[in-house]
Amino acid sequence: MSTSKVISMARTPAREGLYLRVGYNDHTGLNRLIAERKLRVEGLAFDARWNDRHASLRQHADRASLATCLDTQAMELAMPGTASSSYREPPWATPAPQVPEDFSPQNIERCVDAIVERVVDGQYSEVMAPAHYLAEEGSAWIDVDAQLTRLLRTRLNATDQANVKIIYPLAVHHKVFYDRSGRALLRRVLSRLPIDLVTLRIQPFGNDSGPRALRNFIEACWDFPLENPLMIERAGFSGLAAFALGAVDLVESGITVGDSFNISRIQKPPARGGSSFSPPKRLYVEALGTTVDHKVAAALLGSNRGKAYFACKDPTCCPNGYRDMLADHRRHSALARQRQYIELARVPRTIRAEHFLQHIVGPVCDMLSRASATHPPFNGAHRRMMSIKETLLDLQQEQKRQREERRPKSEQQTTVRPGAKILEFPPRDSRGR
Ligand SMILES: [Zn+2]
Repeated sequence: MSTSKVISMARTPAREGLYLRVGYNDHTGLNRLIAERKLRVEGLAFDARWNDRHASLRQHADRASLATCLDTQAMELAMPGTASSSYREPPWATPAPQVPEDFSPQNIERCVDAIVERVVDGQYSEVMAPAHYLAEEGSAWIDVDAQLTRLLRTRLNATDQANVKIIYPLAVHHKVFYDRSGRALLRRVLSRLPIDLVTLRIQPFGNDSGPRALRNFIEACWDFPLENPLMIERAGFSGLAAFALGAVDLVESGITVGDSFNISRIQKPPARGGSSFSPPKRLYVEALGTTVDHKVAAALLGSNRGKAYFACKDPTCCPNGYRDMLADHRRHSALARQRQYIELARVPRTIRAEHFLQHIVGPVCDMLSRASATHPPFNGAHRRMMSIKETLLDLQQEQKRQREERRPKSEQQTTVRPGAKILEFPPRDSRGR
């Protein structure tokens, strides 16, 4: 990774927001939250495999003016470990993992037409371009994906779907994204595509990333000015950190799972006898900034001290505190992620990093230290978070210096210390259909 001296930090976001990724069993809880008018996210990302299962949630989200984004699973369909029966559901799927050579002009048309048909039938307001994972700069997928994306826009427009936005999932190995020339290539490619937003999947990056990866990621995003807003996907607390530091404009998050992007996990065939739809039960514990196994959470919340430290304090989320947290872990997790995002989003960008460090990262470090006193496995997470805090502090200082340098000379001496005024969270944008 190049050093921070080359950072341009030229991001000027047109939009900000939080997307939630809808897991196999998340639809019931999300339906209820929409009915209660408690879901204040920008949009929901729907997995193409579960199109029918999530149909009613899609309709409710649509009526509530939330964006409904179809994830075509094109990336996964090109990976060897995703040959389970559920991956055969999308009409554009093929029996064997797809390779670039499969995409002849006829097959590109067939694939795009099937996706457009699904967008129309499912009344999606957004669709992810059927893009693939780029392991290196010279990947043959780059050209194929550009053709797929251009044709997708053309066919959407031709079927009266010009208002459907295209989100481009940029799934790429870190060695390409953390390298200046790699980013320059990606920018050239993206600048020529008819897309509305870019969402990043960096291999590997996420909640379990250490301070070096987080620094590399944030600095790379600062030096990745695009015409489109930039989102980080599947990154958990690291995604929030990136948003706080102005590295990304939007955050996409799973609810109880999916806090990191790692293709080796996607490629791994599901365990024999196990169901890919029933991962271990987990819940998001805000105080710790991470998801925790349900049994571990129950043990943490088993003592009076534990309840005081880690239980949900929001009476509109969990009126009976820890009991509700454990009983309805999906609802709590969705609302907890939304709360942390909203707390950051309502802080002006110029003081967002400072706010994140003081009011979110600091308390999370304290709570991880308390958790590790009774549950030693949290020791590692605590040490990592302390190190991340130092890294973020350094990046925040760098950001401050660069902002100051960009101000006109006449203003530099009369810097007004940013006040602690917190903006009201703006009403959700209508998605402009
Ligand atoms: Zn709660």
